[in-house]
Amino acid sequence: MECAFLGALRMPFLKYEDRLRWVRLRAAERTAGLIAAAGGACRVCLRRDCAFEFHHRDPKMKCFCIARNVGSLSMARLLVEVEKCDLVCAVCHQELHRVASVNAGTYIEPLDAEEISDAFASLSNRWRS
Ligand SMILES: [Zn+2]
Ligand SMILES: [Zn+2]
Repeated sequence: MECAFLGALRMPFLKYEDRLRWVRLRAAERTAGLIAAAGGACRVCLRRDCAFEFHHRDPKMKCFCIARNVGSLSMARLLVEVEKCDLVCAVCHQELHRVASVNAGTYIEPLDAEEISDAFASLSNRWRS
């Protein structure tokens, strides 16, 4: 997963702006790698060309937010966390949490294949009408 070029370099720049740029570039590259590892498509609406977020299936298993740690933790640790998540687009993610909070304040259970297709059908119906 680690880029052969960027991964081998450790803070090679002296100038603050250059370091910042490098950290951002590495974070973007890692994010792309994690998204690809998670299937590259929203599990609800199946879109591929959108902003993605990692939704923890079981919040009790959550150790950290992937987006907030993608620049600092190792790819190995990030991938362990990604395993606990469903890749969803930003819109479906908001919707999942809205539905979850409506359901008596309880968090949603992991989606099985049928629930995913149900969620997909109801969301896409709503957005088409
Ligand atoms: Zn989606
Ligand atoms: Zn979530």
